[in-house]
Amino acid sequence: MNRIRNGDRMVEQHIVRRGIQDKTVARAMRTVPREMFVDPGFEEFAYEDAPLSIGQGQTISQPFIVALMIEKADLDAGDKVLEVGTGSGYAAAVVSRIAGHVYTVERHGALAQQARERFGRLGYSNIDVRIGDGSKGWARAAPFDAIIVSAGAPEVPPSLKEQLDLGGRLIIPVGRDDEQRLKRIIRTGADTFEEEDLGGVFFVPLIGEDAWTAAHPLYTPAAQPERTPAQMISDAAETFSSIDDESFTHLFDRFADSRIVLLGESTHGTAEFYRARAAISRHLIEHHGFNLIAVEADWPDAAAIDRLIAGRNLSQARPFERFPVWMWHNEEFLEFIRWMRTENVRRQASQMDPIRFYGLDLYNMAGSIRMVIDYLERVSPDAAVVARERYGCLSPWQNNPATYGRAILSDAYKSCEDAVSQQCQELLARSLGENDGSDDGFLDATQSARLLAAAERYYRIMYYGGSKAWNLRDTYMAETVEHLLDFHGPDAKMIVWAHNSHIGDARFAEMAAARDELNLGQLCRQRFDGMTSLIGCGTHSGEVLAASDWDGRAEKKRINPALAESYEHLCHQVEKKWFFLDFERNQDLHAGLIDQRLQRFIGVIYRPETERMSHYMLTSLPQQYDAFLWFDETHALTPLTRQQAAGGSPETFPFGL
Ligand code: SAM
Repeated sequence: MNRIRNGDRMVEQHIVRRGIQDKTVARAMRTVPREMFVDPGFEEFAYEDAPLSIGQGQTISQPFIVALMIEKADLDAGDKVLEVGTGSGYAAAVVSRIAGHVYTVERHGALAQQARERFGRLGYSNIDVRIGDGSKGWARAAPFDAIIVSAGAPEVPPSLKEQLDLGGRLIIPVGRDDEQRLKRIIRTGADTFEEEDLGGVFFVPLIGEDAWTAAHPLYTPAAQPERTPAQMISDAAETFSSIDDESFTHLFDRFADSRIVLLGESTHGTAEFYRARAAISRHLIEHHGFNLIAVEADWPDAAAIDRLIAGRNLSQARPFERFPVWMWHNEEFLEFIRWMRTENVRRQASQMDPIRFYGLDLYNMAGSIRMVIDYLERVSPDAAVVARERYGCLSPWQNNPATYGRAILSDAYKSCEDAVSQQCQELLARSLGENDGSDDGFLDATQSARLLAAAERYYRIMYYGGSKAWNLRDTYMAETVEHLLDFHGPDAKMIVWAHNSHIGDARFAEMAAARDELNLGQLCRQRFDGMTSLIGCGTHSGEVLAASDWDGRAEKKRINPALAESYEHLCHQVEKKWFFLDFERNQDLHAGLIDQRLQRFIGVIYRPETERMSHYMLTSLPQQYDAFLWFDETHALTPLTRQQAAGGSPETFPFGL
């Protein structure tokens, strides 16, 4: 009651009487409890019209100035707003009660952290906080309808002007301390701005690359108190109560504006990674317009799942029958297929386009040959005869393509390269001719022909060893991503599931320095600059489903506790069960973890006995990924048993048909 009276008095005396007319601003300032934004002991002064100290040599701005800046920013309910200089978080909190979403940047980590906690306590979920230099704005979240800068700059930072939307308003104090003026800059065109002077003000300096430098007399270093890397992780860790809970899925709202979200995994056999990726995918599809899922699996097998979730029958042999079968024949994935199917029924009823499911990889030669020939038989039987002949040279190997490269090396067989690539070119040329590209069978056929051409090269060069085969495979996967996005048009948004080693940007790992390898994550970042989000997943110990050798059977194996020099060991030291790290928003964490350490990669094969050699490589985790998801102890996937798969029970559909 007391607080409400104080808030009303503050708004009446210091806001309304001094000329602030915007009722939404007055209402928002009555709503936000200002005493929660000052240091303990200063609550009684919270409602005075004065700046108050908030630590680190910084101040919470006086209420009248906060109101004036927000009024001049002319906010609407759906606006996306950037506030530079979070400080206590008060101004961002007020803005969040008026606008749709607030992004706020603070250079002092401790202040940003405290503000985050305050927003959490108040349940203000439409505010994102980042630690860093706000004179550069927040490029990934731009463009903004309004930008409010709560610290004084020598000149208007160019990045902030660039990040304004057309018609966007920038409110910023500019000039030397003794002659600071509050300016309003409105973007009127691509390169045109209007500027207005709103009067004299006095703010603490904006310290940054495009602002005042360390030479400013009021400069205070942003350095944190000495913290160990594990403490930094602990401070930045965003925890959640369960994968099935909103506290988890909402963490991924920040990727809503990405075109491609790539979700990694540090093993190919962990239940938590599958369940987390399914929950994230569901959320991005239901709430943020994502409509394509592409996985590290072969095109023909994934195409069968795609047909199934579209409510059509499987037209080929059962999908994912080859090693490593458990990667797809498992309860966790089955549950996700069921969800996609139900979701597509719902979408059909609402006349929405269905979710589509695709494979990016190039191992299934036999399935791909079948797809090309099936399609040609339907549209041009003569062309099918030619294709059959061309692919004939691959046929001795099509069910075990790994032997193809060996045969080529022995010179006993001539390479199929010309025939296979000719077939691919002809099918692609068709897209310019008779086909308008909207036919799914056509997409399947061209994609399969591309796969065969790439796979032919892949298996041929695999036997020379080195990085070439890996690079070819990852380049092929990136090209498939690009083709799919082109095929589905500018509104298409994709989620990718693949191993961490394909997703974490290879330029920041030993694989690039030592072996000249690139990968899918790197290529997506390069080709879809600013529109790609790379998210890794990791674990310390538990159990994993993996084989001991290629083509071996799936075994439930214990994962060794992580090595002491690894990122995994650091995450384990934090002693939190599950958490999420955002490197983009925590620049001090980014800087603190940047030096390379070991990172563990468990694929379809796990050899705990030779773990250091077989499974660890040096990486820079915060440079490889934009964010990292941690499950301290994990469980093995639940494979569908042979009886289930063979028995044809409806519960195991489509694998048990
Ligand atoms: N809006 C804040 C509030 O409601 O409490 C008050 C902000 S205070 C007047 C200015 C803030 O700007 C300080 O917390 C300071 O650390 C921060 N700051 C200064 N330079 C910055 C920069 N380049 N990027 C981000 N924050 C900066």
